[in-house]
Amino acid sequence: MRRLFPARRPAVQSRWHRIQRCKRRAFSGAQSLYLRPKTLDEAVTLLASPGGQILAGGTDFYPALGERLPQGRVVDITALREIRGISFEAGQVRIGGLTTWSDVIRAPLPRCFNALKAAAREVGSVQIQNRGTVAGNLCNASPAADGVPPLLALDAEVELASSAGNRRMQLHQFLAGNRKTLRRPDEILAAVLIPCRMENAASAFLKLGARRYLVISISMVAVVVLPDAAGRVAEAHIAVGSCSAKALRLRDLERVLVGLPFKRGIGAAVMPEHLACLTPIDDVRATANYRRDASLTLVQRALEACVETP
Ligand SMILES: Cc1cc2nc3c(=O)[nH]c(=O)nc-3n(C[C@H](O)[C@H](O)[C@H](O)COP(=O)(O)OP(=O)(O)OC[C@H]3O[C@@H](n4cnc5c(N)ncnc54)[C@H](O)[C@@H]3O)c2cc1C
Repeated sequence: MRRLFPARRPAVQSRWHRIQRCKRRAFSGAQSLYLRPKTLDEAVTLLASPGGQILAGGTDFYPALGERLPQGRVVDITALREIRGISFEAGQVRIGGLTTWSDVIRAPLPRCFNALKAAAREVGSVQIQNRGTVAGNLCNASPAADGVPPLLALDAEVELASSAGNRRMQLHQFLAGNRKTLRRPDEILAAVLIPCRMENAASAFLKLGARRYLVISISMVAVVVLPDAAGRVAEAHIAVGSCSAKALRLRDLERVLVGLPFKRGIGAAVMPEHLACLTPIDDVRATANYRRDASLTLVQRALEACVETP
């Protein structure tokens, strides 16, 4: 029977529907091969021969493809249970390479991780947080990646696994620029490692976007402050994202803050020259000048928020 009212595709397809369509098309053709190893050893062996692309939560992978199909071998690492989850080791916290943002939100973590947890709650929506991984956020290396400033402020390191063995490097070195990292194509980011030295430090994360949710930031700031027994700043770590090709620590400001009383009003110590290392751009979201002004205010507010958190 002929349909009187032929079914029509909705005029506007959601991003999720486009991702699903792309996925179906991607693996129906002969140009790509989909592999889902069960162990890290299997995965690094598959990646040892050139042409493999890593797929984790897919929340950056598929949008980056647009309407194109993935080429070559897609190595889906979502079955590598051994690298999912958060554990406490001698002197450090290990966030496995397959740990999602929701895992971070749920985990009982020391006080200095409050900024990372706040950032996790800002990543997209709950659905995105359930799929998207911390490692994917770092490897995608967007200047606006929410996970980067808190992890920089925590002095995080990354562990890269390949068939040749493991190597570690500081996160600030791993991130080489806009969408650039020092990861070799045969390497899996197996873990993010955070030293426990500052576990009792206060921390805060603030993100400014054009709207409250599901937004790419105009600027974002993560602060970790360790006070001494006399109530003065012993150590301060401050990172700003979305205002340079990669998020940066404000080292000059960090030095200025050491020794100041850790109390209300500390934000007044932040001066425009402390943000001179930032190189914000004019784009659809904001002008460079607005980004500079907003970042200064965010840094001041994040410092005040640290004082006020118990
Ligand atoms: C609707 C929507 C909203 C979003 N909102 C935000 C937001 O507010 N803030 C934000 O920061 N991000 C946001 N994102 C981006 C994304 O969700 C995060 O960056 C997420 O953490 C990426 O993780 P993933 O597991 O999905 O990575 P994937 O998409 O699977 O991979 C991303 C890249 O990293 C590589 N990769 C992944 N895991 C590894 C690994 N272990 N080792 C080596 N390489 C790896 C992949 O090959 C790929 O190049 C959003 C995305 C969507 C679709």
